[in-house]
Parts: sequence; C-alpha cells; structure tokens
Amino acid sequence: MRVGGLAQHLVAARSEDELVAIARDAYAGDDDVLLLGGGSNTIVSDDGFDGTVIQVATRGVERIEGGERIGRPDAVRLRVQAGEPWDGLVALAVRNRWAGIEALSGIPGSVGAAPVQNIGAYGQELSSVLVAVDFLDAATGDVRRMTAAELELGYRTSLLKRGLQGVVVAVELELAQRQDVGAALSEPIAYGQLANALAVDVGTKVSLGELRRTVLSLRASKGMVLDPDDPDSVSAGSFFTNPIVSTQFAHTLPADMPRWPLVPDEPDLVAPLDAAFAEESVAVGLLAEAAVDRERHRAQAESTGPGVKLSAAWLIEHSGIRRGFALPGSGAAISSKHTLAITNRGGASALDVAQLASYVQGRVQAEFGVLLRPEPVLVGLEL
Ligand SMILES: Cc1cc2nc3c(=O)[nH]c(=O)nc-3n(C[C@H](O)[C@H](O)[C@H](O)COP(=O)(O)OP(=O)(O)OC[C@H]3O[C@@H](n4cnc5c(N)ncnc54)[C@H](O)[C@@H]3O)c2cc1C
Repeated sequence: MRVGGLAQHLVAARSEDELVAIARDAYAGDDDVLLLGGGSNTIVSDDGFDGTVIQVATRGVERIEGGERIGRPDAVRLRVQAGEPWDGLVALAVRNRWAGIEALSGIPGSVGAAPVQNIGAYGQELSSVLVAVDFLDAATGDVRRMTAAELELGYRTSLLKRGLQGVVVAVELELAQRQDVGAALSEPIAYGQLANALAVDVGTKVSLGELRRTVLSLRASKGMVLDPDDPDSVSAGSFFTNPIVSTQFAHTLPADMPRWPLVPDEPDLVAPLDAAFAEESVAVGLLAEAAVDRERHRAQAESTGPGVKLSAAWLIEHSGIRRGFALPGSGAAISSKHTLAITNRGGASALDVAQLASYVQGRVQAEFGVLLRPEPVLVGLEL
C-alpha cells in the first residue's frame, strides 16, 4: 500500500539455512519479530515496527518424490522456497503443463505467505494443492513438517493467520501433470465470471495458457494486478473478507442480498468483487457436484460452522459507499473499479487507510448489523 513507518532492524534471508539461522536468533532475542514476504498483504502503522523484520528472499523450486498424496492422477510434487514469488510459480506451472494453480494467476506476494491466508481466487484455493510446509516454530526454534490439515486452512485463514508464530520455510505442493496431446488443460472452471469471460460453461476445462491470460486480464480490469500505471492497483487487494453469518441472522437481511449457504464438506466459493452475483449462485450448485477432496474442506466447515457467506462488496455498495469514495483530505480512497479495495492515491498515510477502512466498517455495520473484518495483516494498527 506504500504506507507505514520504518523497521527498527531489517534483515534479508537469501538461503534456507540463512532464514532458519536468522529466525532462530531473532525469536530467541527480546525484539518483536515480523516476517515479510512481498509485503502485499501487510499494512504497517506510520510509527513503523519497533523490532526485527525478516525479509524472506529465499529462492528455488525443486521436484521431489514420495510422501503422502492428495490423490490427483499424474501428480507432480514440488518443494518451493518461501521467498519465491507466487505468480512466478504459477507461470512456471503453466509452462510445464502442471494444472492446479492456474486460476491463482496474478496474486502478488511470496509462496511462503500463501498458506497464511490460504490464498484463493476465481474458484481455486491453495488448500486444494498444498501438501505440507516446513515450519520453523518460534516457540521451540525447531523446524517441523506441518501437513495442510494441521494448518487448519479455511476461507482466507489458517492457524498462521490466527496467531501461530513462526516461519514457513518451504512449501510442498502437488499439481497434476497434463499428458494431453495438444494444449494442456486446466482444472474444471469453478467460477461463473471466469467461465463467462471464456464463453464456456462452469465445469469446462480450457488450456492452461488461455485460463491464465483470462484471469490476468479479469484481474487487471479490477486493478487487482500490480501495475505501475494503474493507481487502483496500489492496494492490499480485497480489504475485507466476505463475512460469514448464521443462517438465522441471514433471514433478517434484505431478500435481494446475494448469499451463499455454506455446507460442510463443500469447497469454498470465492464471492465476486463486482456485479456478477447471480452467476455465482449457480456456481454454488455446480461446485457442490464437483469432485473435491472432502478432507481438505472439513477444517473450514468446522472453523466456520454452518452459516451463510455474504458479499462484502455488495454490503459496502449498498451501505452507500461509491467507487472512488474518499474521506475529505485523505490520500486513501476506495478503488475506482470496485468497492472492496482501499487504494493509496499518492501520499496516503497508514492512518488514512485505517480511517477509511473504519468508516466503511461503520457504514456497513450501521446499515446491516454486519461487522466486516480486514483481510490484510495490520501491524500496529487497529480498526
Ligand atoms: C493487488 C492485490 C491483489 C490481491 N489479490 C489476492 C487474491 O486474489 N487472493 C488472495 O488470497 N490474496 C490476494 N491478495 C493478497 C496477497 O497477495 C496475498 O495475501 C499474498 O499471499 C501475500 O503475500 P506476501 O508475500 O506479499 O505477504 P506479506 O504481506 O509479506 O505477509 C502477509 C502475512 O504473512 C506473513 N508471512 C509472510 N511470509 C511468511 C513466511 N515465510 N512464514 C510465515 N509467515 C509469513 C507476514 O508476517 C504477514 O503476516 C492481493 C493483494 C494485492 C496487493
């Protein structure tokens, strides 16, 4: 977001051994420790961080054998260093005909941060390909393997996001090697807006390259790909998660409000940023029919309980906040492309961002009684 103050100490770790050594030292000391990958989902207060920031700059992708399997046919197992840029990994996968993360194209940030909020977009989530991470536990200094189930991944959350302290040193993923003659095909499309953009039905497979290009162009149209020429991309992505409310409470909300009932064992549905709500409701039914790894979604169902997911974008718009809205004198504004991103229009302070976010929260709560929760990690800031 290009806001925030200075770190008292900043140290970059460029190899796995260096990362482990630096992190062990830092956790054994008295300073507070902050892990930083790309910094795309972190908003630090204007006072900065009074402690040690470890910048994870490790690189490397290797193919490995063995271990437990998620069960996809023709599996390719990868061990990826935490500092690898996420989108570079997606590009590599698409080039190598490895399916499973193509719809996660264009998400900024590092591979090591991806499990923290179980990144997701356009019908795919990290949880469907994540096998395990190598995790340096801040409490013990030991590096241990944590399986995806142990990380308790849910909708934009995990144990790491909920407070487990430590470092994701490396990430193990399982993708599917496409053997198709001709174009290598994607996983079945599970998102109405993406299917529409490709002029196919939900559930269709298209070529990995075409899917990646379409996702990147959809994301760019929403300011969701980092672009120096697009002020709407100076953001932390979606600022609020889609709230999950009880079924009972959902009955009290306006009948025309889009909503997605959560069913245990059903894969997560990522609600859209903008207007295509009706298609998504259709997608829920189709997703329910899709063959998914049920085990993977149990943690989510358990962490949220049965409930109803609402669209944060719809709630914001219908509380009267327009695209481009800014508080008087503030450098922060709602994106001009959709209401879910808060952007830095130049010279914004972290306080400007937090004040606008609090204002949005207040409007939505006053109108609908729903508290929106921030998606980015706030350091030294509270809403
Ligand atoms: C324009 C834009 C679009 C976005 N679109 C999406 C989207 O579609 N879907 C989505 O899910 N997210 C999206 N995001 C959010 C962001 O890209 C992801 O959350 C990403 O995983 C953050 O990676 P990062 O390396 O920048 O994380 P950082 O901001 O550096 O860190 C995020 C959190 O993870 C912790 N962390 C970082 N590295 C490690 C590590 N190795 N071990 C342990 N903890 C670590 C940090 O301490 C912090 O708490 C978007 C952001 C932007 C700016």
